[in-house]
Amino acid sequence: MASSEKVEINKSQNSEMKLPCTKCAGKTIHKVLVSVDVQGEEADGGWSIQWCDDYQIVECGGCKIKSFRNVSSNSEDYYQISETEWEHGELENLYPSRIEGRKTLENEEHYLPSTVRGIYKETIQALSNNSPVLAGIGLRALIETICKEKNAEGKNLLLKIDDLVSKQILTPTGSTILHKIRTLGNDAAHEVKPHSEKQLGLAMDVVEHVLNDVYILPKKVESEFGA
Ligand SMILES: [Zn+2]
Repeated sequence: MASSEKVEINKSQNSEMKLPCTKCAGKTIHKVLVSVDVQGEEADGGWSIQWCDDYQIVECGGCKIKSFRNVSSNSEDYYQISETEWEHGELENLYPSRIEGRKTLENEEHYLPSTVRGIYKETIQALSNNSPVLAGIGLRALIETICKEKNAEGKNLLLKIDDLVSKQILTPTGSTILHKIRTLGNDAAHEVKPHSEKQLGLAMDVVEHVLNDVYILPKKVESEFGA
C-alpha cells in the first residue's frame, strides 16, 4: 500500500466564505488569514482514495474576531442529490463552536457571579455543540443557581421559582417559562429525552433575559449612575 501526503501553507489564504460568527448575528463573510492545507492519497493495487484536510485561521469581516476552521473531505464521501447529480461531502468544524443567529452574553459575562458564569458558559457550549441533553440539564442548573444566589425559599424548584416572583425578581410571565424549563431539565436528566434545538434556544433566550435583568442591568446602572 502506497500513501502520499502534501502540505501547502497558505494555499487558501485570503479566500472568503460565509460562516456563522460568535459575536455577530447570522452568517458573515470570513476571510482566511493563515491556512495549512493537507492533501493525501492512499493507493493499494486497483483502488485509491484521496482526502484533504484544511486548517484555517479565519477572521469575521464584521467584528474582526478570529477563530479556527477545519474542513475535511475524501473521495469516498459523496451523496446523491438528484437522479444524475452527486455532491461531495465536506465536514466543517469551527472553534469556538457557535450557533448561527445566537448572540451570547459574551461581552457582558463578567457582570455575572462566578458560579452563574461557569454554568452559563458550559450550557452555551452544550447548545453550540449539539448536545441537547446536557443543554437541558445546564439550563435547569442555571435556574437553580439563580434561585440559590437570590435566596429563593421553598422545598423544591417549583416553589423557589414562585418565590422569585413574590420577591419581584421575576415576572409572572418569566416564571411560567422558567417552569417549562424546569420540567425540561427534569426530562433531560431523568428520562434522557433530548429537546429540540428550537425549544432549548427559546429557553436560553428566557434565561439570558433573567440574567440580564437580575445581574447585568443593575451592575451597569450602578457603574453609570452610582449605587
Ligand atoms: Zn463577527
